[in-house]
Amino acid sequence: MKTDHDVIVVGGGPAGATAAQTLAALGRDVLLIDREGRIKPCGGAIPTRCINDFDVPQHLLKAKIRAARIVAPSGRRVDMQIGDLGYVGMVDREEFDPWLRARAEEAGATRITGAFKSLERGAGGVVTAKIAGADGEVTKTARLVIGADGANSAVRRAAFGPNKKPPYVFAYHEIIKSPAHDSDAYDSRRCDVIYQGKISPDFYGWVFPHGPHASVGTGSAVKGHSLRKATAELRAAAGLADAETVREEGAPLPLKPMRRWDDGRNVVLAGDAAGVVAPSSGEGIYYAMLSGQLCAEAAEMCLSTGAAKHLRTARKRFMREHGRVFMILGWLQAIWYHSDKRREQFVKMCADPDVQRLTWDSYLNKRLVRRERMAHMRVLVKDVQQLLGLQAR
Ligand SMILES: Cc1cc2nc3c(=O)[nH]c(=O)nc-3n(C[C@H](O)[C@H](O)[C@H](O)COP(=O)(O)OP(=O)(O)OC[C@H]3O[C@@H](n4cnc5c(N)ncnc54)[C@H](O)[C@@H]3O)c2cc1C
Repeated sequence: MKTDHDVIVVGGGPAGATAAQTLAALGRDVLLIDREGRIKPCGGAIPTRCINDFDVPQHLLKAKIRAARIVAPSGRRVDMQIGDLGYVGMVDREEFDPWLRARAEEAGATRITGAFKSLERGAGGVVTAKIAGADGEVTKTARLVIGADGANSAVRRAAFGPNKKPPYVFAYHEIIKSPAHDSDAYDSRRCDVIYQGKISPDFYGWVFPHGPHASVGTGSAVKGHSLRKATAELRAAAGLADAETVREEGAPLPLKPMRRWDDGRNVVLAGDAAGVVAPSSGEGIYYAMLSGQLCAEAAEMCLSTGAAKHLRTARKRFMREHGRVFMILGWLQAIWYHSDKRREQFVKMCADPDVQRLTWDSYLNKRLVRRERMAHMRVLVKDVQQLLGLQAR
């Protein structure tokens, strides 16, 4: 049956823009819908793997971060230098997302501005999407829909019902003007990560420099915990209490991939809509882009064979590569973010050179290096010793 497009991608953030770009480059007729007009609240930290795999140009990197300072409940600080492993790139979503959408368009995707409202899965494998555009409602048909419309995904609700959603923390941050000069409290080439129950009882707080601006914020799923108050404390501790505030904003941050991303017919979810954010770190941009690419490749297989079962390969391929790390990060969050006593032990553990190297390597390159298997073992042993209180303070 003839449709307006092969695939409709809803949402033009990192996941949707990457999905649309991938499909367009494969020669598919793809419609990318984004409602535009809102800057995604985000710390904007991306690892080397993201920059390399998705050709993120240098001009989009507002800062290159060379170290992280980890702060314990007692105020104890551990500086983790990245050294020769590279740097963390910092992007401004205000600029990054429109650039990704423009890249998808250049690859051949058709773009419209509008809000996805509903979908109907009809006979003959045709899916119809209703979109509220600037000039009223439009209806578009396609053979497949990729739902990449973020944590509150309307596509997910339409295809899976209101109860199927990943667990979240709510994250809040303030974009501020950076100080003119670095100091020990604020360093434009260092990300600070604060593990203190008063800042977050179940996540962490951060100060992430972005050149002329910085993102200061925290997240929590605990009702009644004031993220604004905690952010004010973070700002005061970094000497940023009087810095000019540019924006204050927040959003839910999913912390676990959904068990199914596809509906077995013609809808598949990517990025935050599918819950693809790493536990412990809250890192979502790289995983959103990767899941967008994998959903696009799954859609291509589905379109070329006519078999909906191929939609499943997106999640399968993602979990094959990252499932183990997500599981370990989930355990780490459950163990180390449990109490201030545990956070203190965790920060102490981060002083260990083995821990630092493995942490940076697995974050920046998304791999567990085989040749460093002995280092993994040492880290595991130290981890367990810390947990059991067997190591000298
Ligand atoms: C405060 C905060 C800090 C964070 N810091 C980091 C960090 O430092 N590093 C990191 O890697 N991750 C970070 N994350 C997570 C990261 O921002 C997300 O995981 C990532 O943006 C997910 O990309 P996405 O494309 O799936 O969704 P989004 O980026 O949310 O994009 C969804 C897109 O869909 C569009 N849309 C939504 N609804 C509709 C609709 N109905 N119709 C049409 N379009 C629609 C929106 O306009 C948007 O463009 C942070 C998140 C938060 C909240």
